[in-house]
Amino acid sequence: MAQAELSCFDERCGARYGITEVLYNCTKCGGLLEVRYCGDGYDPAALRRLFRERRMSQASLDASGVWRYRELFPFLDDYKHVVTLREGNTPLLEAPRAAEYGRLDRLAFKHQGFNPTGSFKDNGMTCGVAQARRLGMRRVACVSTGNTSASMAAYAAAAGLEALIFLPHGQISFGKLAQALEYGARTLEVEANFDQILALVRALAARLGIYLLNSVNPFRIEGQKSIILEMLDQRDWRAPDWIVLPGGNLGNTSAFGKALREAREAGLIDSMPRLAVVQAEGAAPFYEFVARGGEFQAVEKPATLATAIRIGDPVSWPKALHEIRSTGGTVEKVSEQEIADAKAQIGRSGIGCEPASAATLAGIRKLTARGVMDRGADVVAVLTGNLLKDPDYIYRYHTGELEAPDGTKIRSSFGNRPVVVPNDPDRIAELLR
Ligand SMILES: *Cc1c(COP(=O)(O)O)cnc(C)c1O
Ligand SMILES: [Zn+2]
Repeated sequence: MAQAELSCFDERCGARYGITEVLYNCTKCGGLLEVRYCGDGYDPAALRRLFRERRMSQASLDASGVWRYRELFPFLDDYKHVVTLREGNTPLLEAPRAAEYGRLDRLAFKHQGFNPTGSFKDNGMTCGVAQARRLGMRRVACVSTGNTSASMAAYAAAAGLEALIFLPHGQISFGKLAQALEYGARTLEVEANFDQILALVRALAARLGIYLLNSVNPFRIEGQKSIILEMLDQRDWRAPDWIVLPGGNLGNTSAFGKALREAREAGLIDSMPRLAVVQAEGAAPFYEFVARGGEFQAVEKPATLATAIRIGDPVSWPKALHEIRSTGGTVEKVSEQEIADAKAQIGRSGIGCEPASAATLAGIRKLTARGVMDRGADVVAVLTGNLLKDPDYIYRYHTGELEAPDGTKIRSSFGNRPVVVPNDPDRIAELLR
């Protein structure tokens, strides 16, 4: 059995902690924490075979598209703590029409919207909730208006834990809130902004016996590695040239980079894909930082209709920066119009996704135009959330009523307006001729 510990991500600090300490940041320097393992290496051929054999297994751990890869995140001492909703197991879809739009010969989407609550947050949440149970916690909490709260509510309910969701009052994304209510989470609307609420909840955590499942939680990051592992498995461990994903808090970027480094060290892949992170123009602090250098600067009032990436002060940027550098990756930003049009193109491929996910195809289109990405490159884009998360946005786009946060109209370039017709066979036949 491998040894797991919590380690400060900042090499200059180097603080280490036991795997069962309840910590969200390094107590020495305040930095981010990461789970690290030491132990005997694995035989990569045997591991690949084991992962493949588990696809035939009916055991719930093996049937999970996260826990199937558990040798690569062995932080639990006993798998009885695991609650699975059969997360992961998401398809890798070839998308020739979207490829054409992105000016690529070929493009595949790894679609995390096929998860039980409709986003990639489930990949991480099953691990975060397992750690909460292992620690004997009864209550879990997060600050979120979106997919994190939906996912946490579902896993907490399945695990018999109490779920507390803290939301900024009046900034509620309805479809995602509806999920949290249905899964039975206690939902508190606080009269403060996201950053203030996060500070408040951190201060309350010990007092209320809460285990925090925000995106800095290092165990969620461990689970999100499985997105990459499953994708590589689906490609028989042939690494693509590029992996493209949207960037908000940058937890997923951190997870993807860690997964790739560890897969390489384990001998599962022999080349390193490059990560391309795409942000929305109105919430692009990481793009600006990488493009300009200097100090990291938060965006005071992040604004984008892609609410899942509407983050001004992404907590995981130091990890993400490391992963972009160590994979020779890049960061791009895209406009509201570009996101909306790319999203419609993903829809027309018969695939569909929520707005934040479409930043990937919009970003690819820019990166190929700029010559950063070659037309012949082998590219996988990760669609992070399900089409039905945000139906209001879709209806407005197709009927020409969608407006960007600054009030400018978004062109309905690939609009598909419903038509009202009378109950008259001749008129309908005429219309459809
Ligand atoms: C959370 C989320 C993101 C952003 O991921 P980060 O890890 O915060 O960068 C993007 N898309 C969707 C659908 C999400 O739910
Ligand atoms: Zn530290």
